[in-house]
Amino acid sequence: MGLMRSVLLRGSQSAWLRERATRHRFVRRAVSRFMPGETAEDALKTAVALKQQSIGAVFTRLGENVTDPTEAAQVAEHYLGVLDRIRELELSAEVSVKLTQLGLDLGQDLCYSNLIRIVERASGAGVVWIDMEASQYVGATLEIYRRARKAHPHVGVCLQAYLYRTADDLASLIPFGAAIRLVKGAYKEPSSVAFPRKKQVDENYFKLAAQMLGEEARAAQLRAAIATHDRVLIQRIIDFVQSRKLGRDSLEFQMLYGIQTQEQLRLAREGWKSIVLVAYGSYWFPWYMRRLAERPANVWFVLRNLLAP
Ligand SMILES: Cc1cc2nc3c(=O)[nH]c(=O)nc-3n(C[C@H](O)[C@H](O)[C@H](O)COP(=O)(O)OP(=O)(O)OC[C@H]3O[C@@H](n4cnc5c(N)ncnc54)[C@H](O)[C@@H]3O)c2cc1C
Repeated sequence: MGLMRSVLLRGSQSAWLRERATRHRFVRRAVSRFMPGETAEDALKTAVALKQQSIGAVFTRLGENVTDPTEAAQVAEHYLGVLDRIRELELSAEVSVKLTQLGLDLGQDLCYSNLIRIVERASGAGVVWIDMEASQYVGATLEIYRRARKAHPHVGVCLQAYLYRTADDLASLIPFGAAIRLVKGAYKEPSSVAFPRKKQVDENYFKLAAQMLGEEARAAQLRAAIATHDRVLIQRIIDFVQSRKLGRDSLEFQMLYGIQTQEQLRLAREGWKSIVLVAYGSYWFPWYMRRLAERPANVWFVLRNLLAP
């Protein structure tokens, strides 16, 4: 792992740094590149504009590791309101939640009951996506996912290509006809659980994506969401789809707001399903640090902002 990436990911967990960084206007200005605003209404407005460009949206309210059950219940309540607004605005949009924001650290049952309220409200309007967090949460996240999926078909989960275990996790989820969002993985993980080299992660990503588009997955009607900004990988996956004559509806591409915007537009123009994950909320610090870690050049962007008059 690069030194800069490692430092930034360590920094993402620092309450001291969070406290200080979020006070600075220049940091907030830099964050706006990845986040149209702090409120759900800001995100909804962005989705209306994306819709005009044939791009769908997934909303996520930033926050993680909630330790107060009342706060976890409020997060669920918040998402219920967002789902109502999605219906009012007739958007083809979904939500994505972090289980530690719904109280996973307080117990699986509490977290599950918050999640299922959201899943039930979303019913019929796409799936509720479950983000995947740091590796110590993967087992519990998948247990909750399986339980929710048995109760309700409209729920999807994120899997991370950097983890060794993901090949087995994917194989066990395919028969459920799950909705799966494949990402590379954004946390600081040791080489005992995750591939240390980018090349290995990219190769594993392609292998897993091919499995998500394989015969068994298609027979089980798996919804395959390819969530990456990596244009080389995207092209490789498109070539795979075309060589097997699978059709454009066999998968969808998901990216983050503000990253590879031209690629998001290009895919939509060429008839692929293109979806943007729009984050919002005031608890953006650890999330933002993970975005910086993904591309250390972003740090220079922040510094340039600092020096700008
Ligand atoms: C829709 C979506 C949902 C996600 N959900 C999760 C999740 O639940 N759990 C999780 O662990 N991770 C999640 N991630 C993050 C993911 O794990 C990666 O950290 C992130 O997508 C960067 O990896 P990449 O696949 O884009 O490839 P990379 O190889 O990192 O990037 C490829 C290229 O994309 C561009 N790029 C990538 N990131 C940035 C950036 N931050 N700023 C500017 N340019 C950039 C650069 O040009 C880079 O060369 C999600 C990502 C997406 C798109």
